[in-house]
Amino acid sequence: MAASIWVVVEQWQGQITDISFEALALGREVADTSKATLEAVLPGHQCAALAEQLGCADSVLCADHPALAEPVPETHAAALAELARQRQPRAILIPVTNTAMGVSTLLGALLDAPAVNFAIDLKATDGTLEARCVLYGGKVETRVRFSKQPAIIGLWPGARPADQGRSDRKPAVEQVQVSLPSEARVRLKRYIEPEAGEVDLTREDILVAVGRGIQSKDNMELAEELARALGGELCGSRPVVDQGWLPLSRQIGKSGLTVKPKLYLALGISGAPEHVEGMKNSGLIVAVNTDPQAPIFNVAHYGVVADALELVPALTEAVRARKG
Ligand SMILES: Cc1cc2nc3c(=O)[nH]c(=O)nc-3n(C[C@H](O)[C@H](O)[C@H](O)COP(=O)(O)OP(=O)(O)OC[C@H]3O[C@@H](n4cnc5c(N)ncnc54)[C@H](O)[C@@H]3O)c2cc1C
Repeated sequence: MAASIWVVVEQWQGQITDISFEALALGREVADTSKATLEAVLPGHQCAALAEQLGCADSVLCADHPALAEPVPETHAAALAELARQRQPRAILIPVTNTAMGVSTLLGALLDAPAVNFAIDLKATDGTLEARCVLYGGKVETRVRFSKQPAIIGLWPGARPADQGRSDRKPAVEQVQVSLPSEARVRLKRYIEPEAGEVDLTREDILVAVGRGIQSKDNMELAEELARALGGELCGSRPVVDQGWLPLSRQIGKSGLTVKPKLYLALGISGAPEHVEGMKNSGLIVAVNTDPQAPIFNVAHYGVVADALELVPALTEAVRARKG
C-alpha cells in the first residue's frame, strides 16, 4: 500500500476554512515529491457534501458522527487517532486555528507520535520529512526532522496560497466509521459573535493599519488624517486595541478581522503571524517600519524603513496635494 499524507480539513459553520485549502496545497506538494497519496480527512456531522470541494486530494475520508458536529479538539483527536491506527498514514497535517489548536498535540499524545505546531513549511527530502516551524510570534524558526511516523504537523496559516489547494476535480469519497464516547468531557456551550463595528472593514478598499510603533494615543490622529486623505479607514494590531486606542471592531488578525483591501498600509507593525493571518491577502501591502529586519517586510510588496511619525505627516500632505 502506498504511503499516504493526510490533511485534516477544518470547517466552520458549514464552510471549509481557507487554511484547510492551504494545507491541501502543501500536502499535495509533499505527496508528489515523496510518491505518496494525498488523503483529505473530513471529520464532522452531516457535512459529506463538502467533500466535493476537496479535489486537490486523491481521496477523502469522511468521518461522520454527531460528536464531531462541533469543533471540540478532544473528540476530533479521538476520531483521528482511531483512523490513524487503522490506516497508518505517514504524516498528518492539521490546521492550527483558534478552534483546532489542540487537535495536533492531543493526537500526538494519543498515538505516542511526534507532533509539532506552528509549521510554515514541510518538505520530504531523502525519505525524511522536515518541518519548518515558527516560535515567539515568528521571531525564531526551527527545523524539525521526523524519524517516526505518523509525523503530526500543526500548520500555521499562510504556508501556501489557499487557491492552490482548490480544484474542480471530484475526489473519491469514502465514508468511515468512528466509535466515539457517548459523552465528551468538553462540550461547546455557545458561540459569542463579536459585535458589529460602525464600518465594515472587510469591504474597504484602503486600510491604514497602526501598530505599537505609533507609540502613543496622541499620535493616532496622524494616521487618522492619512486614512482620511486617502479615502480609507483606520485599523490596527492587537496591542493598539488592547491599549484602548482603537475599538476591538478595528483589530486585524487572528483574534480580529480578516481583510483583503486593495491597499493595506502598515505603520509600525512588526508582522507577527497572528497579525499577518488577517491581512496577508491584501492586494498591495506597504509597510513602514524603523527595523529593516521586521517580519512585516516578508509579506509587504513595498517596504519603507523609516520613522512612521515623520513619514506619515509628509505622506498626508503629499496625498492632499495630489488630490488638489
Ligand atoms: C492567540 C493570539 C492571538 C493574537 N491575535 C492577534 C490579532 O488578531 N491581531 C494582532 O495584531 N495581533 C495578535 N496577537 C498578538 C501578536 O502576536 C503580536 O504581539 C502583535 O501583532 C504585535 O503588534 P505590533 O506589530 O503592533 O507590535 P510590535 O510587535 O511591538 O511591533 C511594533 C513595530 O513597530 C516598529 N516601530 C517602532 N517605532 C516605530 C516608528 N516610530 N516608526 C515605524 N516603526 C516603528 C518596531 O520596529 C516594531 O516592528 C495575538 C497573539 C496571540 C498569542
